Amino acid sequence: MLLLEAGGDDNSPWIHIPLGYGKHFTNPKVNWLYKNEPDSETAYRKIAQPRGKVIGGSSSINGLVYIRGQREDYDHWRQLGNVGWSYQDVLPYFRKSEDQQNGADEYHGVGGPLAVSNPSDPHPLCEAFIEAAVQSGYPRTKDFNGLNHEGFGYLQLTTRNGRRSSTSTGYLKGAKKRKNLFVIKNAHATRILFEGSKALGIEYLHNGKKHLAKANHEVILSSGAINTPQIMMLSGLGESTELKKHGIEVVANIPEVGCNLQDHYNGRLMYRSNEPFTLNDILNSRLLSVYEGLRYIFKRKGFLTMGASYAAGFFRTDPALASPDIQAGLALFSTDKVGEGLHPFSGFSVIVRLLRPESRGNVFLKGNNPLDAPAIHPNFLHSKNDQDNLVAGFKAMREVLKSPAINKFIQSEYAPGESTASDSELLEFLRQKGGTSFHPVGTCRMGIDNKAVVDSRLRVNGIKNLRVVDASIMPTIVSGNTNAPTIMIAEKASDMILEDLK
Ligand SMILES: Cc1cc2nc3c(=O)[nH]c(=O)nc-3n(C[C@H](O)[C@H](O)[C@H](O)COP(=O)(O)OP(=O)(O)OC[C@H]3O[C@@H](n4cnc5c(N)ncnc54)[C@H](O)[C@@H]3O)c2cc1C
Repeated sequence: MLLLEAGGDDNSPWIHIPLGYGKHFTNPKVNWLYKNEPDSETAYRKIAQPRGKVIGGSSSINGLVYIRGQREDYDHWRQLGNVGWSYQDVLPYFRKSEDQQNGADEYHGVGGPLAVSNPSDPHPLCEAFIEAAVQSGYPRTKDFNGLNHEGFGYLQLTTRNGRRSSTSTGYLKGAKKRKNLFVIKNAHATRILFEGSKALGIEYLHNGKKHLAKANHEVILSSGAINTPQIMMLSGLGESTELKKHGIEVVANIPEVGCNLQDHYNGRLMYRSNEPFTLNDILNSRLLSVYEGLRYIFKRKGFLTMGASYAAGFFRTDPALASPDIQAGLALFSTDKVGEGLHPFSGFSVIVRLLRPESRGNVFLKGNNPLDAPAIHPNFLHSKNDQDNLVAGFKAMREVLKSPAINKFIQSEYAPGESTASDSELLEFLRQKGGTSFHPVGTCRMGIDNKAVVDSRLRVNGIKNLRVVDASIMPTIVSGNTNAPTIMIAEKASDMILEDLK
């Protein structure tokens, strides 16, 4: 088995220290640094779309939040015709992948490669946030990945003993001992090789030279929701007129390659805190930074053990909805631009994201050079329902933050600011300042219709010996973060690959 990875090793300590997550947003050594194309609905901004370019992929640079989504998400995939993908079908794979700190139960597993832990040292703002939601009438939940996804509570992180657990540390490190696994880093896959409609292997660039690798059984694309459709289109799989436009010979007309892009658009409420206890205060003080460093080294506690968030909530903007459509996460810092320095004052944020957008985007080629970034059009807020639901979620969280449990820590609302009050003003704020939650999926949609890119065994329709195993196969985005669901997809795919070899 040959594994090609365009990035390098995951040997930077900041990959393994959870808070180091903040350092990767602008680091070309580990990040493809993509930007979405400017769009009328999001103020013509080039919104950052980071993607991991390193062993472990985005699981090596992500915010470490462990969320699976809702039972309804997977039951919906099954209702779309995808046999084997209902919640009952996929739950064993979530359990198999997991090493759950709280022990095994009906929903959780132990002994799996992906370590899932409780926050080691939750900050007082976390309890204040959860309690404020309870004061506002929302339920408290103990486990977002168990029976009750709905409600507010503490998040779990993909960490073990205060260090990141990624697909590299969890899966690849153990597998490296195998004699039949070869890993080539800094190897950029440029196209799939074909004989007619049969995939034969991969062409890739390594140290500036072109190489060919022949597959004994099959080629598996796991390049993520941006790069997998890019490689397919460069190889002649996609909408034929689109391919011909770039001078690419068509191998198969698969019209939806690169279509159906979904992501969780979000807006950030930001507050000035009257207590100097936020991450802003730590990073703005050399003394406090040293203290936090020592706490981490000697006790594995404190801010350095923290991912994107420690506390969150899932709620419905309308009680008539079958399940939550908004996720809100508390971040113990505030910044005008994620990854680019925190405010000089004490501050924190609440990130409000739309879980099941109607808007659909796409990833298409800009030309036929495999080293060029593709054109990413998420089409955020193109649907009126998406606009209304995100505004409703934003307003609901703003009310929660007025509850006494958390309001006592607030000096003032920094953004959008009290004067931004009407729905249209809030929508304008979201257009100007909103961003992605880094969850692009769906661009090689699994389905049973003739436009779907892969079938329910993740084989590319109409092509022999080619499979896709990554977030791009999701027919609809899950209602939560996408790392654990992608790992579940890979666990299930590994069983299917072995079954199909027989
Ligand atoms: C900044 C950030 C924060 C996130 N936070 C969270 C979070 O807190 N919780 C959560 O659940 N999810 C989070 N996510 C999302 C989650 O990490 C991803 O959904 C998941 O890792 C996607 O897995 P994937 O296999 O589809 O793609 P990726 O993990 O992106 O892997 C694709 C791999 O393919 C490689 N590759 C691409 N093109 C080529 C090529 N041409 N040749 C060779 N190799 C190539 C890439 O370098 C990469 O290693 C975050 C993502 C990011 C970027």
